[in-house]
Amino acid sequence: MLLRNRLLSLSLTLFLSPPSPLPKSASFLFSFNKTIAHSTHKRPESKPDVSASRARFAKTVLFVPPGVDPEDVTDEMILPGSNIVVGPYAGHSQIKEVEFVKSSGRAKDYPKDDRPEFAILGRSNVGKSSLINALVRKKEVALTSKKPGKTQLINHFLVNKSWYIVDLPGYGFARASNAARTDWSSFTEGYFLNRDTLVAVLLLIDASVPPQRIDLDCANWLGRNNISMTFVFTKCDKLKASKGKRPDENIRDFQELIRENYKQHPAWIMTSSVTGLGRDELLLHLSQLRNYWDQ
Ligand code: GDP
Repeated sequence: MLLRNRLLSLSLTLFLSPPSPLPKSASFLFSFNKTIAHSTHKRPESKPDVSASRARFAKTVLFVPPGVDPEDVTDEMILPGSNIVVGPYAGHSQIKEVEFVKSSGRAKDYPKDDRPEFAILGRSNVGKSSLINALVRKKEVALTSKKPGKTQLINHFLVNKSWYIVDLPGYGFARASNAARTDWSSFTEGYFLNRDTLVAVLLLIDASVPPQRIDLDCANWLGRNNISMTFVFTKCDKLKASKGKRPDENIRDFQELIRENYKQHPAWIMTSSVTGLGRDELLLHLSQLRNYWDQ
């Protein structure tokens, strides 16, 4: 754990200085950060202007929250396993209580109390229920609308009596009828475009498989519509897959494929509901987005 933190905190240093040898077991995170840094910047030939390079790196690769000047970002400010910088708005983040409020099938049924909300979205089987349960530390926060072809509902869960987690219908159901897909789209798209209290969408992406067309389409659609978004990569514990690429490689490939659609890279974070990786970091990130929104 300590090693992971140390490696990830090296991401900025790495861009500015040559890498040093690392233990093999942890090298995937290292090479991931290295690739991200190198894919976005050319290392200057002459002596680098450190603060300018740092600011450029922060602006294009990191997610720099409100209240932070990119030039002031230090490696300690970056959340482990992510590109997220922690700023002055980060605060109380743990979940003390969560209550299911309602399922809505129409926009006019949504809660009307103006509390900030985060929508959780992802392909069926991406690990959404597991992540929500891990975040709220409950065995079973009831999720409805999981079965393909069933009426699709938007579920509001009230956290600490102050903000909402919103469970959105999954997408890409192999067995859903075309009609069910169309209904899902217009209803959910309407939610994204019109919900004033939506602080950010958490788009869940399974890091144990290569980038999927449907996830890329969804990310690009949200990007084109300027909807604030955080990529939450799930199943990052699956390091020893016998075939295919490792999670860090899949994550890098995904970012490469969407990069051209964004001026600033969206926030991203690695998680695992099995090991708890990224849980506290994700909650801290949500706290800073929420507290800024509340201003
Ligand atoms: P949902 O359909 O998106 O709600 O997905 P679920 O939470 O039901 O998870 C789908 C499958 O992936 C289940 O078999 C889970 O046990 C598994 N899963 C979910 N999260 C993780 C994770 O972080 N790591 C691993 N290894 N498996 C996971």
